[in-house]
Amino acid sequence: MTYGPAPESSVEAMAWLHANAPFGHWIGGKFTAPGTTFASHNPATSETLAQITQGTTTDIDTAVTAAGRAQPKWAKLPGHKRAQYLYALARLVQKHSRLFATLETLDSGKPIREARDIDIPLVARHFYYHAGLAQLLDAEQPDMAPVGVCGAIIPWNFPLLMLAWKVAPALAAGNTIVLKPAEQTPLTALLFAQISREAGLPPGVLNIVTGDGATGAALVAHPDATKIAFTGSTDVGRKIRTATAGTGKALTLELGGKSPYIVFDDADIDSAVEGLVDAIWFNGGQVCCAGSRLLVQEGIAERFHTKLRARMNGLRVGDPMDKCIDMGAINSPEQLARITAMVDASGGEKYQTACPTGCYYPPTLITGLGSADALMQDEIFGPVLVSMTFRTPAEAVDLANNTRYGLAASIWSENINVALDIAPQIKAGVVWINGANMLDAAAPFGGVRESGFGREGGWDGLLAYLRPKAASKPLRSTLA
Ligand code: NAD
Repeated sequence: MTYGPAPESSVEAMAWLHANAPFGHWIGGKFTAPGTTFASHNPATSETLAQITQGTTTDIDTAVTAAGRAQPKWAKLPGHKRAQYLYALARLVQKHSRLFATLETLDSGKPIREARDIDIPLVARHFYYHAGLAQLLDAEQPDMAPVGVCGAIIPWNFPLLMLAWKVAPALAAGNTIVLKPAEQTPLTALLFAQISREAGLPPGVLNIVTGDGATGAALVAHPDATKIAFTGSTDVGRKIRTATAGTGKALTLELGGKSPYIVFDDADIDSAVEGLVDAIWFNGGQVCCAGSRLLVQEGIAERFHTKLRARMNGLRVGDPMDKCIDMGAINSPEQLARITAMVDASGGEKYQTACPTGCYYPPTLITGLGSADALMQDEIFGPVLVSMTFRTPAEAVDLANNTRYGLAASIWSENINVALDIAPQIKAGVVWINGANMLDAAAPFGGVRESGFGREGGWDGLLAYLRPKAASKPLRSTLA
């Protein structure tokens, strides 16, 4: 693959990195001196972008202590005061959106078009929305108290958006936070730390400690991190649940998925094909709620697959900084190896379109698998769609529910009665009708079964950062 001249925005992003790296942690409103570092890479070019500090148990302790010191004062602010800070953060995300989007793309391999038009605007929207909730909180939830210091651990697929999903509600509710970004994609969190200073956020309210799984485990283990909010794999979620059992810590887990995309024979086929492109090839399928299991009614299966293959042929995979591509790089060579190994070990009939060499994987459709096959059951977290047919609505429901996950589902039918009948029968936290990946700050998002518990977004998401507090005064005796 050949690269043209670097777009102006990457020049700006590289200049920002050169001016600020190597990075320490963001604790108590300033960057610490860098310690032992590791590199963050651009997966599209394997170029090193910046050196990042590996967080130690001591770093976690310093950050949790800073968050603990700042929390009482932050919680005492009236909601409308906290809202002012959240509005300022939202506006600053918008002001620096080009730099945020470029850094996100360089660090993660996602198409610049997605970072620019989806990730970063949703981040700003999340802060605006939670600023609104912060203002309503005192009146609407007078008996709720903040949890205290929250520990947040996030994955690499939507680095800044996952930060926003944790930081906005935590701060709106009067908590302070220590966040650990994924080791593959820490850069936008560090830029966000910098803009929090521009927003005037009091020191210690937001703390960011970079590092790997061991750093995350130290945060989970810290006795003063009274709530843990985790987004990531089901395996790590399981470890965190075990580690927090018996500690009294509040916990929310947003984990993996194998979400069904169900197409009935009366669906608008062209729209369903287009929706599927979004469901499974948005962010290269590295999306927890990706519609990664196509269930298509038998009568239209052949026609649907033919149209889908034709659409796949038109998908352009390449340089994430190119505004014209549909799919960028896979997030890391490790993730590419994982996807490749899973697909290579599977049977079925594979249809793959072209993609560049390097850290890329082609859009892939696999048919002819049984419902118990590993690829039908396990999350791939890549641009790989598996497909099966069904005959009746009841069979569609059985197949849809036949995994250990339960995050999202899409139903495509022109008959709203069919869709509304099926939707409640699907074991999933979110069901979309004639759509996919429809996420909004006001809509609670989260899973059931091994996709986790707790919700993010809307009032439900905010309540996960609060706890009921009953305060009563002694009654004066009526006999006196
Ligand atoms: P991962 O579980 O490997 O890592 C996620 C985060 O946890 C990283 O920051 C990592 O450093 C940290 N971590 C690793 N081991 C830890 C430990 N023992 N204790 C504490 N922290 C630890 O997941 P990933 O590969 O980064 O992300 C992909 C997964 O995330 C997929 O399964 C995907 O479905 C899931 N995900 C879920 C949602 C959702 O909202 N449900 C959203 C995005 C991604």
